[in-house]
Amino acid sequence: MRDSNATVVVSGTTNVDTFVTVQNFPQPGETTIAEPGIEGLGGKGANQAAACAHMGVNTVLLSAVGNDPQGELAITELREHGVNTDYIVSSRQPTGRAFIMNDPSGENIIIVTSGANELVSPAQQRETVKELRRQGPVPIVLAQGDLTPEHSAELPKLVENSDSRLVLNLAPVTTRDPDLLAAADPLVLNEGEAAAVLDAAPGTPIEELLDRLRHIARSVVVTLGQRGAMIVEGDAEPVHIPAVYVERVVDTTGAGDAFCGTLAAALAQGENLVDACTLGAAAGALATQKRGAAGSYATENEIRRLGEA
Ligand code: ADP
Repeated sequence: MRDSNATVVVSGTTNVDTFVTVQNFPQPGETTIAEPGIEGLGGKGANQAAACAHMGVNTVLLSAVGNDPQGELAITELREHGVNTDYIVSSRQPTGRAFIMNDPSGENIIIVTSGANELVSPAQQRETVKELRRQGPVPIVLAQGDLTPEHSAELPKLVENSDSRLVLNLAPVTTRDPDLLAAADPLVLNEGEAAAVLDAAPGTPIEELLDRLRHIARSVVVTLGQRGAMIVEGDAEPVHIPAVYVERVVDTTGAGDAFCGTLAAALAQGENLVDACTLGAAAGALATQKRGAAGSYATENEIRRLGEA
């Protein structure tokens, strides 16, 4: 059942990304000249919030930016994507930045400065979520792995004793706190992250990973790039969600974030986990057809047309 009043709360990072293409990566001590870079919204929280808002769901991002031009750019772009930025805190630290250097083969080197994201107050976020619950239902709280350890440790408290469900995309794997993992429903990981959470050897078969993951979270989704995704819920047999075939992949940046934001939105719209992942896979596939992250995200109509085909 679709509740147009329902809100997804995203507790996550906001960055401004700068992309520069170089012919060859500089060696230590070397300077490389490049064309002026492209700047745009980034950070896993912001990207996933944008993907969620593209599904037509009320989306509130709880995050922090600096009192600087990058903070203004991030807020402007988030609003253009339809994200509610009213609760984004202005911090004395600069806005988080990611500097992404690509070479012509598509290989990249990335430097991230967390900046304002480090000063987010989990206690303040808990108060905000309480306030939002007074305004209407908050069926989903969505969070990612790129938070400070203190912030991640507080996430279970954002959903405890409430009707909210925590969708946790533990990317990167910065913690294995059992209480946090147990609160996730679902825990969303790619194959490498699934192995890392379990401390399993790289190359461990997916069946073995899923059998172990089912014991650590209420439900688990493992995304497998162009092979789609696997879902395990309790003792049930794993379910495979096929990927949508894409003839020409342009850029896979942000496909995982599109998948997670769309999955959270679809759950908030009342879809079950399998249907929500099917829509997530459609959004992920569409995101590979354009360059960049949030700027490459499709509309609800495009996603549903592909996901329900
Ligand atoms: P991450 O970027 O976090 O590693 P994945 O690469 O697994 O995540 O991508 C997330 C989802 O996006 C996949 O489960 C799949 O549904 C979709 N996707 C990613 N790459 C492709 C692709 N090349 N073709 C079709 N769908 C894709």
